[in-house]
Amino acid sequence: MRRGGRAIVIGGGLAGLACARELGNACTLLEAEDRLGGLCRTDVIDGFSFDWTGHWLHARDPEMRKLIQERWLGGNLLEVQRRARIYSEGVWTTFPYQFHLHGLPARTISDCVLGFIDATLGPEGEELRSRPLANAAEFILRHLGEGIARHFMFPYNEKLYTVACEHLSPEWGGRFIPRPSLEDVVNGAAGPAREDVGYNATFWYPREGGIEALPRGISAELRADVRLSSRVQSVDLARRRIRLVSGEELEYDALVLTAPLPACARLLAEAPAEVRDAASRLRAVSVTVVEVGAKDLGGERFHWAYFPEKEFAFYRIGSPSEVNPALAPAGFRSFAVEFAHRGTPETKRFIEQALEGLSRCRLIDRGGVVLSRARTIPVAYVLFDHDHAQARATVQQHFERHGVQLAGRYGKWEYSSMEDALLSGREAARSLA
Ligand SMILES: Cc1cc2nc3c(=O)[nH]c(=O)nc-3n(C[C@H](O)[C@H](O)[C@H](O)COP(=O)(O)OP(=O)(O)OC[C@H]3O[C@@H](n4cnc5c(N)ncnc54)[C@H](O)[C@@H]3O)c2cc1C
Repeated sequence: MRRGGRAIVIGGGLAGLACARELGNACTLLEAEDRLGGLCRTDVIDGFSFDWTGHWLHARDPEMRKLIQERWLGGNLLEVQRRARIYSEGVWTTFPYQFHLHGLPARTISDCVLGFIDATLGPEGEELRSRPLANAAEFILRHLGEGIARHFMFPYNEKLYTVACEHLSPEWGGRFIPRPSLEDVVNGAAGPAREDVGYNATFWYPREGGIEALPRGISAELRADVRLSSRVQSVDLARRRIRLVSGEELEYDALVLTAPLPACARLLAEAPAEVRDAASRLRAVSVTVVEVGAKDLGGERFHWAYFPEKEFAFYRIGSPSEVNPALAPAGFRSFAVEFAHRGTPETKRFIEQALEGLSRCRLIDRGGVVLSRARTIPVAYVLFDHDHAQARATVQQHFERHGVQLAGRYGKWEYSSMEDALLSGREAARSLA
């Protein structure tokens, strides 16, 4: 960016906030909504606090850890030891499934252990071990084996992504899947669980204010010109101008986009046909979250739990009040029941299925429910189908050619965490300097 130039950052989620903070007063931050935070927002209703579905914070970058601990959430952090469960075949087991087969029916344990041995050591797995993997199904079969695939990984991922694992590319989430050794699998089948396996064995959460305390902490340090309720309607890359829905036009020297990549492409006043076509092939899964507040009945205690089986339409239940009891009134528990879908949500049906499922797992008594409502996140999980890599590269390269930075989970069109969004916003700002 030229000296004294002005940057515009589109989107006031974590990526946009981290970017604007770094750019100081040479920046205008435009946010479509009337609040900053993007997906990291928290609503309070009848004494219950619900994030826009549970957001648990992990940070590995030393500078980010320090900023979060000492400044943005200084004195307002809980460190929580993960309690994650899986409910299948009528049994609660510990996450990750492949490390904790203990407690499942004997037949399932034997399928999983023998399948793992075949895949990783036996002659049956040799073919997949010797060549590049073509899709997520092959990745799962190669690294975890047929039993774990059939009993957990296939049904769970198919529910979350709404397509069969054969239609997902091998990059769909590999880095987040803990890979056990044979010793881990056998020990996990033989005895009680260890909770400390995987990338997120402990996490942070604000003591007060829900996850929205994080964007609030960052925005307190902003020197940028922040404009709320300022939705960008179009971007003219050739003239370096953007137009807001209000009709106002702004000029920029540098531009950072954190809105979803296909939506960014649709903002373009002019784009080559191949870019428009590529953008139309970028697909995402929506999530509808049913938020439930109910009298505490006892029952299984967890921070979140996965539901692979078809008999439950949802894929996961989070329990905010287990992470931080301040998120619900005393004597009550809260749950966030997550449904993945494409297209318009059937909200009424989801609420009924959520209550029915919670009650079937003995987590609520229908008479003790004091709150149930649904919220939809239209673009929640990027679909890593076989078009994804090529289509994303075509759209991204078009923006790069015009010097535009893309940041955040949806600007980069990837699967990533809050910390990744913060890091990519910071990186976008530094690359303009
Ligand atoms: C179901 C679910 C659960 C998750 N759980 C976790 C978790 O437990 N831990 C974790 O670390 N991460 C979690 N994440 C990921 C985390 O939410 C994201 O990585 C992070 O919040 C992304 O921030 P962002 O700034 O990139 O995008 P966003 O938060 O989406 O921000 C983009 C902003 O751009 C604005 N915008 C869009 N279009 C325009 C426009 N035309 N004009 C102006 N503004 C516009 C939007 O209003 C929004 O505020 C979860 C995500 C989902 C979907």
